[in-house]
Amino acid sequence: MAEQYLVEPDVGFIKEVARLGGGDLKKCFQCATCSVACTISPDTKPFPRKEMIAASWGLKDRLVANHDIWLCHNCGDCTAKCPRGAKPGDVLGAIRAYAVADYAIPKFLGKAVNDPKMLPILLLIPAILFIVLGFILNAVLGPVFGTTFLNFAPTGEEIAQAKFIHTTLVDIIMIPAFFFSVAVFALGLKRFITDIHADAIRTGKTDKKAFDLVAVGKALIQVIPTIAAHRKFKECDENKDRSTAHLMVLFAFIGLFIVTNIFFVALYVLGQPGPYSQLNPVKWLANIAGVALVIGGFLLVKKRLDKTDQVSSYKDWYLLGLVLALGLTGLGTEITRLAGWGGVSYTIYFLHLMFIFSLFAYTPFSKLAHLVYRTVALTYDAYISRK
Ligand code: SF4
Ligand code: SF4
Repeated sequence: MAEQYLVEPDVGFIKEVARLGGGDLKKCFQCATCSVACTISPDTKPFPRKEMIAASWGLKDRLVANHDIWLCHNCGDCTAKCPRGAKPGDVLGAIRAYAVADYAIPKFLGKAVNDPKMLPILLLIPAILFIVLGFILNAVLGPVFGTTFLNFAPTGEEIAQAKFIHTTLVDIIMIPAFFFSVAVFALGLKRFITDIHADAIRTGKTDKKAFDLVAVGKALIQVIPTIAAHRKFKECDENKDRSTAHLMVLFAFIGLFIVTNIFFVALYVLGQPGPYSQLNPVKWLANIAGVALVIGGFLLVKKRLDKTDQVSSYKDWYLLGLVLALGLTGLGTEITRLAGWGGVSYTIYFLHLMFIFSLFAYTPFSKLAHLVYRTVALTYDAYISRK
């Protein structure tokens, strides 16, 4: 018997999808050209036509719990072919942004990260944290350990960031920010996995009731090479060349993550503080990753500006701005330090720390969370072996 469903439109959801980049949603007249045009969409219950109708009816719960929205890679093929200019690719992007904010808690932070008016406050939070905690540590622990944790007038010939902001102060702020992010992701993903599984059973995408963790692990191993090589991006037509810039940014982040961990071990396990020699291979990796981040970021900005038929909303510019800000301030700190410009280097370093904090603390609420949600959705799709 066909499923009976009482439609209860969530008007607030429709407005929010429009604000997040899906403003042309209502132009859709359900021709299904988009689902045919999409090379990624499966044969069974294809997207994005069904998501277009659900979004225009305001069926929020059905959309945020639908793992299909994460299978879309926002290539724009469907948007280019839509005869009504409804921009289905952008609508799915807007629903994903909504879902990220919906799964992450606390909700007010999700709203703030997606609100341009809140950006100055979000950036001020780490600045205030560093200054206030720095003064407190200077007053309380400074005399005990004979250390200055925050020093606005570092002296001596050698320029070292730790003379300005002590590594301990950096770690006292960054490590909790990192684990806050991990906890927010863990809580959000717990709800997300429960929801997409219930939705897949309800819509007949799968008949697997319980999770087989070994099979899930195998599915994850299966999708990691696909993600690492950006194979799905390459299946698209319109934005196929975007995969190179995406890969540069992805591997730059992976490289910088490895570098941070190695330097963490060097400092706390081996007792070797920086700055490290430019001949050190880990330093090479850091510099190559920094350059890749900047070049990849600029290429992504160029691609966005070139694609005038696609909507670029605040969530897109926030992410691109953060990528570029991280890369430019990271390289800027290093170059000015080597040039001997102490004051400039310390100032850029302070900005760099603001952006690193933003990366850690705000990622579960931003577009970068796609990396995590899409990986889970692709793994789930492989797990249920949908055709
Ligand atoms: S989004 Fe465009 S292509 Fe897709 S069903 Fe609607 S009108 Fe047709
Ligand atoms: S944007 Fe690309 S991947 Fe997403 S639904 Fe459209 S054609 Fe498919």
